[in-house]
Amino acid sequence: MTATAPAIEMFACASCSAVHLEVLNGRCPSCGSADLAPVAVEGSGRVASATTVRLAPPGVDVPYVIAYADFEPGARLLGRSESPLDIGDAVRLVRVDDPVERFRFIPDEVRP
Ligand SMILES: [Zn+2]
Repeated sequence: MTATAPAIEMFACASCSAVHLEVLNGRCPSCGSADLAPVAVEGSGRVASATTVRLAPPGVDVPYVIAYADFEPGARLLGRSESPLDIGDAVRLVRVDDPVERFRFIPDEVRP
C-alpha cells in the first residue's frame, strides 16, 4: 500500500513565506497573495506534536499515531504514522495510494 515518495508538491507564498499543501482559488490561505510557486517538500522532518488514536469508527484499525511534523522549507504537515512518535523525532514522508491521505510519516533513523 505504501511506496517511498521523492517529494510532496506544495505551494510557497512569496509574500508571507507560508508553505501550504492546498490553496483555494490560487490564493495563499495565510495572506491572500496570488504570488505562489510550487515547492517540493522532501527529506527528513521533525515531529512538532503527536498523539495516539485509540478509538475510531468501525473499519479503521487502531491504535495509530497522528502528528504534525515540520519540513523544509517551512512546511508543517499533518499526517498519520503506524509507528509510535514523540515530539522531536525525525520522520520521512511516504506516499500512500489514497486520494485523501496521500502520505504518511515513518520514523527516520538519520537525524537532519
Ligand atoms: Zn501568503
